[in-house]
Amino acid sequence: MSRPVPEERPADQTYGPVQVLFGEAGGRYPDGNTLWVAGDRESLLIDPSLGLIARGAGRPQVDRVVLSHCHEDHIAGCHLYPDVPLHVHEADRHGLSSLDAMLEIYSYGGAIEEAFRTVLVERFHYVARPDAQTFRDGSVFDLGGVTLRAIHTPGHTRGHCCLQIEWRESGAPRRLVYLGDIDLTRFGPYYGDAWSDLEDFERSLSLVREIEADWYATFHHIGVLEEREAFITRLDIFEGAIARRERALLEFLYEPHDLHEVVAHRFVYRPKDPVAFADAVERRSMSMHIERLLGRGTLRAVDGHRFVVA
Ligand SMILES: [Zn+2]
Repeated sequence: MSRPVPEERPADQTYGPVQVLFGEAGGRYPDGNTLWVAGDRESLLIDPSLGLIARGAGRPQVDRVVLSHCHEDHIAGCHLYPDVPLHVHEADRHGLSSLDAMLEIYSYGGAIEEAFRTVLVERFHYVARPDAQTFRDGSVFDLGGVTLRAIHTPGHTRGHCCLQIEWRESGAPRRLVYLGDIDLTRFGPYYGDAWSDLEDFERSLSLVREIEADWYATFHHIGVLEEREAFITRLDIFEGAIARRERALLEFLYEPHDLHEVVAHRFVYRPKDPVAFADAVERRSMSMHIERLLGRGTLRAVDGHRFVVA
């Protein structure tokens, strides 16, 4: 996360029919960058972020709202569009049916979960949308001269999707792919929720690596990258975080340690990062690494609860 980011909201940027409405500090969490896509017949918003609230009456009026996935920062502006059809991948729809259902996606448990319940409502304006409509891998929204196609990329959540937007300019095809929370940061992939999966995430990264586009847009502060080379460079850094965590884990497990000690050591967050749910995320993320290293015979269990390099 060494890249300097502006303190304030950058000016919106236009790519053909796509306008990127940047959030505060270039979309750094808890804010994010919302895409406004306008065709000849219809327009839609992708991932209405907290930043839309500050725009007041200046925010766009649209025919639909489409979500890349069901997470608090991506739905924070949904309450501004209560009567606009809302679309999400079928595997993430559950989170919009009620606040309890939303909390199941994270499953932090205990006091952290209770605190997060309040955060979802008060900070991220969670409002249930049992009327939300679903889409699948390959579903297409035809806006008139502009299409948006869903590419199912699970791992971050079960229903996470990238959205590929295509149009023609002077007869030539143009493509912008919106990567959602495959956000290309140095922090790397987040797979710390109950609805996350490390190996699904890895398969999704292999899939997006093959996407050819003119622009690659992310929800958070990496913003929009032009050209494939810039994308691949960032993708390598992002994906490299998985191997970095696994290497650090193996180094730590040259001496036997139990899961509690692994969690306390911290491999996803830094020891001083003030993240309330860090323990839950460390436990879930590093359990998946341990599990597969046991499966490969790289680790072995000792005394029933500790792990060590075999
Ligand atoms: Zn997310």
